[in-house]
Amino acid sequence: MPELPPFEHTALDAIAPTCAKARTTFLSHRTRPLEFRIQQLRKLYWAFKDNEALITEACKRDLGKSSFETYLVEISWCMNDCIWMANNLPRFAKDEKPRDIAFTNTFVGPRIRKDPLGTALIIGAYNFPIQLTIGPLIGAIAAGCTAIVKPSESAPNAAAILQKMIGEALDPSCYTVIQGAIPETTALLEQKWDTIFYTGSEPVARIIAKKAAETLTPLVLELGGRNPAIITKHADPKLAAKRLLWAKTLNAGQVCVSQNCTFIDREMVPAFLREMKNALAEFYPDGARNSPDYGRIVNQKQFQRLKKMLDSSNGKIVVGGTMDEDHLFIEPTVVQVDSIEDSMVRDESFGPLLPIIAVTDLDEAIKLANEIHDTPLGTYAFGNKNEMERVLNETRSGGASLNDGFFHASIPTLAFGGVGSSGQGAYRGKASFDVFTHRRSVTTTPAWLESLMDVRYPPYTAKKMRK
Ligand code: NAD
Repeated sequence: MPELPPFEHTALDAIAPTCAKARTTFLSHRTRPLEFRIQQLRKLYWAFKDNEALITEACKRDLGKSSFETYLVEISWCMNDCIWMANNLPRFAKDEKPRDIAFTNTFVGPRIRKDPLGTALIIGAYNFPIQLTIGPLIGAIAAGCTAIVKPSESAPNAAAILQKMIGEALDPSCYTVIQGAIPETTALLEQKWDTIFYTGSEPVARIIAKKAAETLTPLVLELGGRNPAIITKHADPKLAAKRLLWAKTLNAGQVCVSQNCTFIDREMVPAFLREMKNALAEFYPDGARNSPDYGRIVNQKQFQRLKKMLDSSNGKIVVGGTMDEDHLFIEPTVVQVDSIEDSMVRDESFGPLLPIIAVTDLDEAIKLANEIHDTPLGTYAFGNKNEMERVLNETRSGGASLNDGFFHASIPTLAFGGVGSSGQGAYRGKASFDVFTHRRSVTTTPAWLESLMDVRYPPYTAKKMRK
């Protein structure tokens, strides 16, 4: 078994000087040349290659993630993003010629430069501990920012690997990991930032947004789910059950874009439940508990939160329901509830609990989905083409997948983000570059243009008024 580095909180008095160093480096223009940024992205790619076994072990210890899942959603995910960004960066970083410029203004050569925002603070969540910090870091490096990364303390082994990888592979005057929980993050928020990129829960986002507001620091927020899935009577129950089960068993349901509640046409409920049971048996022939492919809840705090959520629900468990506190195991559990006021529906489950609500028709499903959250992170619809379009037309959400759970979020070049209280700003693909970039409009007024431009100078004579 590979030896993992230890997780240690950063000393509070080391935080200000570390941040100051990242700022000084930015102001020295070290990160401006494209060659430097591309080199850092390539080094990050190789850090993944070199540390693959350690990352796999860390994610197994923190979340019981299978090697396959870690490779899929942490290692190859980040490696592909590094290389894709390095290859496309020269194109993204080029000045843009704006459209819709009046002919007379073309003489001043209007263009949009792509300037780095400056020094970025990146705060990550625990569920995809590598991807959720490295993804924004790739954007920050590409844009020419310096950055401090604060991984989640709830996935300490992954946080320690991140520190090792970033420390060994990247320029330490530009990119550093600060480890810790609330005191360290609070100290970080006291520093001066040019942008803050936060992934996590809504309540903490409010704390961060208040702090950022004091200094008018731009903020990207990637927040919580409470996402609806809708299944109409024209959907294929087998397909819907299998796809939605996968969306709730990946990372043991600790996924911001997983469906939080599924609204099913009443006629469809028996077939859907039958197919759910079939899919569960197919995924885990010896039961989820015995499968190396099924993860665990990250810690006791989250386990107890989920247990309480299930215990206080008025719903009826129709699939699964077993738990093992000592091993932080919760079986994929479908609960049929009657009301959107049920705790399992109102709150974000962020675990393998799948509440379902039987509805009379699509009208009722859409109405209830909008009542729970008017701007969730994702919306999922299964039905015929018209029904799925209706869901899009009559709801709002950060993203949406039709005939699937969160597939849109897995496309590396598709911008990902929330809307309203599920987040602001987006990243992945070119959006990762854009979100750390200031689009700086520039003109150059040639000397020869003076004869045409003297109309702007006073005195504003009657002759000038006529021109
Ligand atoms: P969290 O909000 O508890 O923690 C996120 C980060 O904030 C951590 O690094 C933590 O140290 C820090 N933090 C916690 N309390 C703080 C405080 N009082 N002051 C300053 N910093 C503080 O979130 P979590 O439990 O790690 O993650 C789960 C949440 O994140 C869920 O709501 C989930 O939906 C959301 N999430 C969203 C996305 C997305 O891309 N939209 C992705 C993953 C997770």
